[in-house]
Amino acid sequence: MSILVCGGAGYIGSHMVLELIKKNYDVVVVDNLSNGHRELVDKNAKFYTCDIRDDSLMDNIIQKENVEAVIHFAAFSIVSESMIDPAKYYDNNILATLSLLNTMRRNKINKIVFSSTAAVYGEPESIPIHEDNSLRPINPYGETKLTIEKMLYWFDNAYNIKYSILRYFNVAGADENIKTGEMHNPETHLIPIILKSILENKKIKIFGDDYPTQDGTCIRDYIHVTDLAIAHILALEKLNKTNKSEIYNLGNGNGFSVMQIIKTAEKVTGKKINYEIAPRRIGDPAILIASSEKAKKNLNWQPKFYEPEKIISTAWNWHKKLFLDKN
Ligand code: UDP
Repeated sequence: MSILVCGGAGYIGSHMVLELIKKNYDVVVVDNLSNGHRELVDKNAKFYTCDIRDDSLMDNIIQKENVEAVIHFAAFSIVSESMIDPAKYYDNNILATLSLLNTMRRNKINKIVFSSTAAVYGEPESIPIHEDNSLRPINPYGETKLTIEKMLYWFDNAYNIKYSILRYFNVAGADENIKTGEMHNPETHLIPIILKSILENKKIKIFGDDYPTQDGTCIRDYIHVTDLAIAHILALEKLNKTNKSEIYNLGNGNGFSVMQIIKTAEKVTGKKINYEIAPRRIGDPAILIASSEKAKKNLNWQPKFYEPEKIISTAWNWHKKLFLDKN
């Protein structure tokens, strides 16, 4: 029996594969390589270049590999791009997931762990954000993830497909042994942008210093990608045990401002970061901090890399390696 990781060649997916292999799971990866990197997938996993919409290839893989559950990361996730081209997001995120769920139905697979996002909450009604906060996405990316969450609810109701929905806050960092890490193109996330700016001698922009926060810059809850991957395994094991669908936030419960992250990155790297203040970025809420009490309590999840220093230092090791390999 094996676990199918859809989008396993991406940033989070490749860390997922690594942690599953460490726990001796048989892992099968499908990825269409639109954003993923084949070389980030651990050699002990089976890899197929396959779009999750390719029904016949998916059927073949699932039957050949005896798949028992699915962990689904395959999606587009750039908020700004989703504002400009929502059709791309509705097509790739919603329609492709519908295909995947129908494939699961055809092949009688009834467990899925789904990668969702804090973007389903939009501008939060209260902080920290609990799973039962209002769901009011303010961009197409968040809207597509919420639509899939609702689809999962009704597919459970009608077809008995059980799910664990994991709503991520700001995922960052890299595998401790730098076997994989973040490699987006274009890069839009704060921590890799800061670290690359040091290596490439560039200036970064701080999007807004007039938010209602202590130093005027936005506050986010950063979670290490390995802690996140481990939470998926715990969620899957819980699902297998209880056969009950659940939704969990995944964050550290601590907020750090853009300026605090810059200062921490300077401390970790020993380098000065060159920045300028730029206008606010559309669709950025001032503060996003998770309550992950439910995941900690129900899944017995204990994040290991909760200090921003640790998150940034693993990312720094990864980006230095990438930079050396390139030059
Ligand atoms: N940010 C910034 N400059 C950048 C990239 C991001 O000031 O070059 C800010 C962004 O406006 C937000 C925070 O950093 O307040 C985190 O942004 P990121 O894109 O990493 O994650 P998001 O919270 O949007 O998912």
